[in-house]
Amino acid sequence: MNTLLKKSGKNLFNSIYIEENAYDYPITRMVLEKFPDVPVITIRNYKDIFNRGNQCFQLQKHRQSLILAVKSKQFLYKSPEVCQDFGYSNFYYTSFILNCIFNCEYCYLQGMYPSANIVAFVNADEFIDEIQNTLAGKKAYLAVSYDTDLIGFHNVIPYWNFLQDFFAQHPDINVEIRTKSANEVFYSEIQPAENTVIAFSLAPQEIIKKFERHTPPLAARIKAVKSAISRGFKVRLCLDPVILNSGSEKLYEPFFRNLFAEINPDKLKDVGYGFFRMSKDLFKRIEKQNRKSQIFADDYTIKEGIVSYPPDLIKMVMDNHLKVLQEYLPKEKIFTL
Ligand code: SF4
Repeated sequence: MNTLLKKSGKNLFNSIYIEENAYDYPITRMVLEKFPDVPVITIRNYKDIFNRGNQCFQLQKHRQSLILAVKSKQFLYKSPEVCQDFGYSNFYYTSFILNCIFNCEYCYLQGMYPSANIVAFVNADEFIDEIQNTLAGKKAYLAVSYDTDLIGFHNVIPYWNFLQDFFAQHPDINVEIRTKSANEVFYSEIQPAENTVIAFSLAPQEIIKKFERHTPPLAARIKAVKSAISRGFKVRLCLDPVILNSGSEKLYEPFFRNLFAEINPDKLKDVGYGFFRMSKDLFKRIEKQNRKSQIFADDYTIKEGIVSYPPDLIKMVMDNHLKVLQEYLPKEKIFTL
């Protein structure tokens, strides 16, 4: 379990804000039962707290509050170009939660939201209705752990408990749950399904230590991957974002070899591989707030509004990395972006 969730309920959240119309939902009742000692403040609308001016994202990360809210439309979004679509043209995402319990230095959320507080939407049924209306009958792909880490948050709100029956009845909707969590409890509580893939984001331990604050170490994540596979879950490894910082590209070959010494590549659905990239606007916003970050001080190029490493550097590093990965997996199982 991540370090944040190891804390007692009292310390995990500074306070719990609840919209006045959010009280009468099972998720709200569940949270109130779980954290009886955390002060509760009733609010009119989550945006009154979440969208306030002059909030400092990184300062707030140390004293995160939870906000329970009722989401009104829209519930589903078409996925942006910077995301891997794994071959699906109907590629959507949905966000049951805004923000994440982790705090990766390269995370775009710090530029996207004015607040580091976590907003959890309690009207899961309305999300499900909208997913059904928009996607049922289509060959669709839906990322459900977007703008957050749903498995990392499972011990606070087990969203998947509310969703798994719906997706089991809609095998045409392919679901990806992306995570950096090592929460193995999830795999013992939840049933595996043909149309659900757990996508584990993995990186060399040095990168995790440097840039992925509060996330579990590599060894714990590998253990969770093995646990998911042994329980029959479909597993994707996301080697993304590859970070090229102070010669860190050299960390990747030993990391890949160690990974496939531990995890049988034949048991994987596929692998995603991609470099650090971010829209120009988000990058500028984060760079301004995060002057000390090495990530935002590196040399980048901007192509079609996306900030990333220079193309010739990407090509050189990717060629080397793919050579290694293809020793373990066939080309068609490796998706690059
Ligand atoms: S785990 Fe993902 S969503 Fe959470 S802070 Fe890290 S990059 Fe952002």
